[in-house]
Amino acid sequence: MKALITRDLDQYEVEEVSIAGPKAGELRIKMGATGVCHSDLSVINGTLPLLKPMVLGHEGAGTVTEVGDGVSGFAVGDHVVLSFAPACGHCHFCNHQTPQFCEIGIPHGRMLDGTARVTKGAEELSVMQFLGCMAEEAIVPAISAVKIDKEIPFEKAALVGCGVMTGVGAVINTARVHPGSSVAVFGCGGVGLSIVQGARLAGANTIIAVDVADNKLEMARNFGATHTVNGSKEEAVGKCKELTGGHGPDYSFEAVGVPDLMITANNATRRGGTTVIVGVGKLTDSVPFNALMLSMDGKTIKGSFYGDANFRSDMPMLLDLYRNGKLNLDDMVSKTYSIDEAPQAFKDMEAGRNARGVIVY
Ligand SMILES: [Zn+2]
Ligand SMILES: [Zn+2]
Repeated sequence: MKALITRDLDQYEVEEVSIAGPKAGELRIKMGATGVCHSDLSVINGTLPLLKPMVLGHEGAGTVTEVGDGVSGFAVGDHVVLSFAPACGHCHFCNHQTPQFCEIGIPHGRMLDGTARVTKGAEELSVMQFLGCMAEEAIVPAISAVKIDKEIPFEKAALVGCGVMTGVGAVINTARVHPGSSVAVFGCGGVGLSIVQGARLAGANTIIAVDVADNKLEMARNFGATHTVNGSKEEAVGKCKELTGGHGPDYSFEAVGVPDLMITANNATRRGGTTVIVGVGKLTDSVPFNALMLSMDGKTIKGSFYGDANFRSDMPMLLDLYRNGKLNLDDMVSKTYSIDEAPQAFKDMEAGRNARGVIVY
């Protein structure tokens, strides 16, 4: 099969590789679509230090073609969306309604049992997040899959596997934005645009999108932003305060992973408000806070991982919202690519051309 593989720093290409069948607890998936996400790029450029060579891809949907021993609840022909974090259902975190922190395994690159399914000759290849779904086929843990309605196109369903769940979830699960509130979103890539949509769904009254690219701000308006601020031309904190009666937004979201932008987002947040950090920064970066002002301003700073989602219920919920016309996934897919065109999809993402580029098979 064809798969997009990264071997060295800043290097990636489509290669022909072999894939073994599913072992116990696993499913074989014929991929339908895979979203191209900045986290794939983070593996390529070493921000996420995972075991290479690695098959990329962690935002996917497809069809079950083989069911491993001991798997219940899935049959050949089922359509599924994949979670990039498996949830065992019975560890400490799964039992405390935080399956995104499930302790079943660290996604170093091998499957949950420590072995590999993808090979090239004698060489074993890693897979990203137990999935490696930027490939024509993938072997995945059954506890990473969610059955979905067959009517939903794969290129739309795939998006809830990472970016859309992360963004909408940060609003409805992490921040719990309430109707009538004000929201600012710093960074309008696929996740930021999903935060804008989440804020609209939550009934926010003022939704301020901040980015340095006018095309992203244009997209943000389409997804529900009531105001846009180009941070390269305007002073974003002052502008956010001006648009919210001088106080600052009730909620600010940072969706890039840059320390300075995290500080900017928190400076914009009104006293007593909440700043949610969604962007994934570097392990070596730190963000200072003012020892006096943190308590004086009474702000909450929260991290949000995978939209604090319970993916088994939240992903189907998002797809129901899509089907009922409330969540716009159609415009999230800016462009589709074949697996052979995957390298171009990464170049387009780096150039900021797409809300989301999606590989279809
Ligand atoms: Zn992702
Ligand atoms: Zn668990």
